[in-house]
Amino acid sequence: FEQLSTGDPEIAEVVLGELDRLRTGLQLIASENLTSPAVLAALGSTLTNKYAEGYPGRRYYGGCAQVDRAEEIGIARAKELFAAEHANLQPHSGASANLAAYAALVQPGDTVLAMELPHGGHLTHGSRVNFSGRWFATVGYTVRRDTELIDYDEVRDLARTHRPKMIICGATAYPRLIDFARFREIADEVGAYLMVDAAHFIGLVAGQAIPSPVPYADVVCATTHKVLRGPRGGMILCRESLAERIDKAVFPFTQGGPLMHAVAAKAVALREAAQPEYRRYAAQVVANAQALADGLAAEGMRPVSGGTDTHLALIDLRETGVTGAEAEARCDAATITLNKNAIPYDPRKPMVASGIRVGTPSVTTQGLHEPQMRQVAELIARAVRTDPAAPGGADALAGVAADVADLVAEFPAYPR
Ligand code: PLP
Repeated sequence: FEQLSTGDPEIAEVVLGELDRLRTGLQLIASENLTSPAVLAALGSTLTNKYAEGYPGRRYYGGCAQVDRAEEIGIARAKELFAAEHANLQPHSGASANLAAYAALVQPGDTVLAMELPHGGHLTHGSRVNFSGRWFATVGYTVRRDTELIDYDEVRDLARTHRPKMIICGATAYPRLIDFARFREIADEVGAYLMVDAAHFIGLVAGQAIPSPVPYADVVCATTHKVLRGPRGGMILCRESLAERIDKAVFPFTQGGPLMHAVAAKAVALREAAQPEYRRYAAQVVANAQALADGLAAEGMRPVSGGTDTHLALIDLRETGVTGAEAEARCDAATITLNKNAIPYDPRKPMVASGIRVGTPSVTTQGLHEPQMRQVAELIARAVRTDPAAPGGADALAGVAADVADLVAEFPAYPR
């Protein structure tokens, strides 16, 4: 860091500012985490310099002996951790992994069945503003109005009607377990590939806190930077029979040179995720999310579907009269970082939204447990209910921020 301070004080200030934000606030974005110093060291290493188009042992550049080792070690760790026949660690991101899965399994114009974005799906699951919605004929399934759970009967009906070439399950804002066996059954019935987008929950799978999609899916796409606690990036797991198609879909079809510093950092994170300590962590992430959802429910904020089985909860704020956008801004002012989120059948536009999404990967890494989750729920409730424009509102939010700082001081992110 000293070298950065000397070489570029302006950017050094940004890095320090961000560190200060992490140390003094509460990070409740469900898709974020706090990587280990070892992961950061690999990311900041000279491996960033290396061009390595291709795969270990068959590169288009010389000098790849060291990066080959990093990638081979990472692939072996991923295969072992997830009991997968094949792993590709080169996707630059979750969206890149998904693009490669589409490229490997379907042709432009083919029909793909995936979860609707407003019901928890991702942009890459068929949104019109994304390649998936523009290049593929996408059909969306929803959650039931009464239970707010995936309606497997609807998925099956839609599959039988539209005969998709690929079915996608896995979401961005779905707090419950997904029945992968049921999806496999439906895919088999209509002769479709099953792609599981495990971007959010692959870390919980690694820590054995939730069931694995690997035995059921043709292809599992994932990110490495969410619960898994690695560098920003993507990963694909698949059966051996699809290995060559997946590898070619990543490079050369959708990407050029891999980010070898990131590949090495993924290897580091996969090693960490194989430790018993990580298993305890994954279980605690879920226990914390449940405690947080219960705490928010006690504050009059309804968890969608009644709770969570995972690392995140989706909270319906309509009873409070506060929109998701207002809640996000108020929490931000109180140094509580979370995001507004549409709830199923949301009457409001996505940029306003009626809900918030909260997740526990970061706070669990910091060492917070269930008792602190109750406190976090109270702090969120105080912030959400404080109108900054009302008399004394700004001071009240500053008061919440002070209490947040006191709470996290006992559980520092990146201790000095
Ligand atoms: N798939 C799902 C389900 C996601 O939630 C996300 C990101 O939040 C992605 C894919 C895309 O990942 P990335 O932002 O790394 O492209």
